[in-house]
Amino acid sequence: MKIIDLRSDTVTLPTPAMREAMYRAEVGDDVFGEDPTVNRLEEMAAERMGKEAALFVVSGTMANLVCLLTHCGRGDEFIVGHLAHTFLYEVGGSAALGGLHPHTVPNRPDGTLDLKDVESAIRGDNIHFPRTRLICLENTHNRCGGAALTVEYTDSLCRLAHSHRIAVHLDGARIFNAAIALGVDVKELTRNVDSVAFCLSKGLSCPVGSLVCGSAEFIAEARRSRKMVGGGMRQAGIIAAAGVVALEEMVDRLAEDHANARRLAEGLAEIPGLSVDLERVQTNIVYFDLIEGSLETDRFLAGLREGGVKMLSTGPRRFRAVTHYGIEAADIEEALMVVRRVMEGG
Ligand SMILES: *Cc1c(COP(=O)(O)O)cnc(C)c1O
Repeated sequence: MKIIDLRSDTVTLPTPAMREAMYRAEVGDDVFGEDPTVNRLEEMAAERMGKEAALFVVSGTMANLVCLLTHCGRGDEFIVGHLAHTFLYEVGGSAALGGLHPHTVPNRPDGTLDLKDVESAIRGDNIHFPRTRLICLENTHNRCGGAALTVEYTDSLCRLAHSHRIAVHLDGARIFNAAIALGVDVKELTRNVDSVAFCLSKGLSCPVGSLVCGSAEFIAEARRSRKMVGGGMRQAGIIAAAGVVALEEMVDRLAEDHANARRLAEGLAEIPGLSVDLERVQTNIVYFDLIEGSLETDRFLAGLREGGVKMLSTGPRRFRAVTHYGIEAADIEEALMVVRRVMEGG
């Protein structure tokens, strides 16, 4: 039985072209700046994001940490949404390793932060206060249903930050999903942010890796932060080679994942006992709820498992399904059939 694994787009396996590129990759010592494949990937990433330079790191978590450590010093404050990945799922690394003080403001359901909330969270010059150095955005917003933040919103947040001489970091783990959903070039979503991080290991299907992009000066400093957290790798071209293939071949196909997610969401919405906010499904992430009084969570998940479908439980009666490379339209129909059967108690 084929397992239809919708837990995350991180379960994607490298493509045959990636395996081939990894096998053939020219490599060198990247800490000495001598790995030609890493250098090529960093140049490609910087070009895609419209920034001067880029830095290859092992994970999205390290990418965000390196950016926070580069923008801020000990005791400085950064403003972040209360549902941000950086705040919820990165082990408190910014505080534990950087001595940074997160200041949360509420995420609205569409993943944005209210500019008025942000403005009132910015600290004045007062001996009692930490210094506000940075504002973090996330696009697409994972916990807000994969919502895509628009160019207009991103620009207005950046204008506000810069008018207070505060930097903006964009956690763009799935920034290409946002660009495709909005029908814009990814550069438009990054043009005013001071740093952006994106993942190769999610919808782009690489085994490992993320990139940090920013000014040449920022990236030179970020290179020091990466070394400090133990992220200086040597013949990293072996894994960077997959990233080169991903940027060349795997970006445009994300549109298929969005179409599959939409079909999945529409199918789930028709099944009695489930509730889906269809308006929130913009990219490759679908959240849905088991209505009170229908099946119990454990019974639901066990039924899915028996039918060969995996989804993530993200709350008492809440589930997440993510579409990705390796999931075809037929798999979505199959998954819907399994869910229907489970809900009917069959
Ligand atoms: C997955 C993710 C990360 C972290 O990536 P890892 O590679 O798992 O460390 C950061 N931000 C967002 C929004 C993510 O979805």
